[in-house]
Amino acid sequence: MERLWAPWRLRYVEGEVRHRGCIFCEKPAAGDDVRELILLRGARAYLIMNLFPYNTGHAMAVPFQHVADLAELDRETTAELFELVTWLTVAQRRALRCDGFNVGLNLGAVAGAGISDHLHVHIVPRWQGDANFMPILANTMVIPELIPVTYAKLRAELEVSSFGRAEGVVPQAGAIVWLPDEGKLALRRAADGTIVLPKGHIEPGEAAYRAALREVAEEQGLVGEVIGWGGVLEFAAGGRPRRVAYLLVQARPGADFERHVGHDTLLFEPSEAVEALTHEDTRRLVIKTLQRFGIPVVMRS
Ligand SMILES: [Zn+2]
Repeated sequence: MERLWAPWRLRYVEGEVRHRGCIFCEKPAAGDDVRELILLRGARAYLIMNLFPYNTGHAMAVPFQHVADLAELDRETTAELFELVTWLTVAQRRALRCDGFNVGLNLGAVAGAGISDHLHVHIVPRWQGDANFMPILANTMVIPELIPVTYAKLRAELEVSSFGRAEGVVPQAGAIVWLPDEGKLALRRAADGTIVLPKGHIEPGEAAYRAALREVAEEQGLVGEVIGWGGVLEFAAGGRPRRVAYLLVQARPGADFERHVGHDTLLFEPSEAVEALTHEDTRRLVIKTLQRFGIPVVMRS
């Protein structure tokens, strides 16, 4: 294996960010999985982003149980831990288009474990040539994408996966669309007159976030990029349960925008947008997401 040179990790290794408790116990107990960058929870283990990544999309599978050695895990936990590893690699491959992975455990401080008393499996996506350009950029963080953006893409992928879900649920992807230049949200007026967020089906093999961006382009004529995670809404349509992963998308008008705006695409200040939305659960999702990203929403009572 070629070694990744990740000098920004020195800050971590040298102990600047060490702290007394166990982060692998504290993060899932903190009550805010988005802030803590938890990607997916099973019954016995969970997936979380690495804050000091070796590469874009570097995440970890961690048992809830605070143990140092694999031999201390029961069979069910071991099985779920590696099932989560598998689901993550599927999500990474689809959302990040990586070419391969390094998957591994460092058991014990002598083996290089930063946190040696709570075992965790590292999953590091690899791309052709990723190790070749890194040494040139020594002492510079070369992770080309912000961690919350990668988190959002992977989270969307895992939320529409079939891990732990009932059968027959149709996965979809949608967007909360923010136009920073206008300071407005772009909502959609559906054919039945309801005011909703843009969303739609995911093509076979398509990443959930790309499906969301495609819907934003097709339904609104906007060119978007993911800036963060929104949330999940479930509803029934045509007798089938649907599960929609919503991403926060920043957008600008594309060539088709004039054809949509004022017709099926309506622009609103954030607070007006919340009031205009037809469905209460969508309103709650939008408020929560905007507040998380520091976009102010002032509600009239
Ligand atoms: Zn722990």
